[in-house]
Amino acid sequence: MDKLVSLAKRRGFVFQSSEIYGGLGSVWDYGPLGAELKRNLKERWWRSMVHEREDIEGLDAAILMHPKVWEASGHVAGFTDPLVDCKQCKNRFRADDPRLKGPPGDPDTNCPVCGNKGTLTAPRMFNLMFKTFMGPVEEDAAVIYLRPETAQGIYVNYLNVLQSSRQKVPFGIAQIGKAFRNEITPGNFTFRTREFEQMEMQFFVKPGADQQWFEFWKAERMKWYQGLGIRAEKLRFHHHGPDELAHYAKDAYDIQYEFPFGWQEFEGIHNRTDFDLMRHQEHSGKKLEYVDAAANERYIPYIIETSAGADRAALVLLVDAYREEQVEGETRVVLRLHPSLAPLKAAVFPLVNKDGMPELARRIYDDLRGRFNVFYDDGGSIGRRYRRQDEAGTPFGITVDGQSTQDQTVTLRDRDTLLQERVGADHVSEYLSARVKA
Ligand code: ATP
Repeated sequence: MDKLVSLAKRRGFVFQSSEIYGGLGSVWDYGPLGAELKRNLKERWWRSMVHEREDIEGLDAAILMHPKVWEASGHVAGFTDPLVDCKQCKNRFRADDPRLKGPPGDPDTNCPVCGNKGTLTAPRMFNLMFKTFMGPVEEDAAVIYLRPETAQGIYVNYLNVLQSSRQKVPFGIAQIGKAFRNEITPGNFTFRTREFEQMEMQFFVKPGADQQWFEFWKAERMKWYQGLGIRAEKLRFHHHGPDELAHYAKDAYDIQYEFPFGWQEFEGIHNRTDFDLMRHQEHSGKKLEYVDAAANERYIPYIIETSAGADRAALVLLVDAYREEQVEGETRVVLRLHPSLAPLKAAVFPLVNKDGMPELARRIYDDLRGRFNVFYDDGGSIGRRYRRQDEAGTPFGITVDGQSTQDQTVTLRDRDTLLQERVGADHVSEYLSARVKA
């Protein structure tokens, strides 16, 4: 992990937020390469959910919502972690922190940080939602929350989307957006952060058809990640046992990845039943039934949710792509990212900065620029330039050499096989199009 974190910073994938002020705890910024990677990931998700399917519509709901939404959803009452405070050193711990030996609140338990005895409080519930105030007056009536999940924006808009899009059950609504959780034990780089992005799809089905759709989405989501090039042996399902199931869920699977810090969830597939719509119907007083005119029946749909973290999935991509390989007695670091996800699709190199090579290389670069995110590099030995692009995960290197100015061909180097082939300069764009497709 340390190597990946340092590569991520060095190459401009991820920076710590507000770094010049010492950083902000568990908040991260994406640099030029990271912004491209995450964007490519989100675009592939959106395309597979919204564009390639007839039965899913897109939505972009606001982060701020009516505070009653979070009462109805159960977040005000239940989105909490039990915490223990040390009265001496003021540190806070989750009550299930393994460093707190003995039962939480036990006066004999030592503080894991300052080591004092009897300084820990009994566990107290702490809500993970960020609170702020809307309007000019900071009073209780003006409290609103930064959403801790994007799903609720979908539930409260389900009838709007249904009516405006003329969809029929079964159908889905997909959304990508920021969510905020005041996590107590954040960490592991971008794995658990306080501000993150989710890619959520809520699929509305007739009660009784829910388990069949649950199985469908479970298989579909695993297939999707394998299609991104993630190694199958690093992916698995984790089935929630009765003690793990959320209060709203009838069945749930996590998709887990084997990180250097163990198997961890990065997407959840949940059968949420009619819990959410029932609650919003009760709390809003508005009927949220689906009317099936053809069958002459009405019901509250069940919801199958696929909930992924864009940042966590991007971290999976980076971890899975990172390799150290021996090539001709040297270690090369390479990110074997799927070409469709790679931040840069190709880099253009004049072998040397003379004899017409820079002019031709520039021309090729300018020609590609409008269609692909490409990079021009004329600094240092060609070997060093290749290595820099290997670390950035750039799938193709285009080198203009002495022969190029004679016969208008270039060498194309493949990041993974290291094979080089000669291609006509006019065909480079076509070549890239075919290879960077999803
Ligand atoms: P965890 O158990 O890791 O806290 P969760 O079960 O609370 O996660 P969900 O509420 O199901 O997670 O959220 C769905 C997805 O959103 C997760 O699979 C993860 O990818 C992402 N996610 C949730 N919390 C965070 C966070 N603090 N930082 C980054 N991503 C997150």
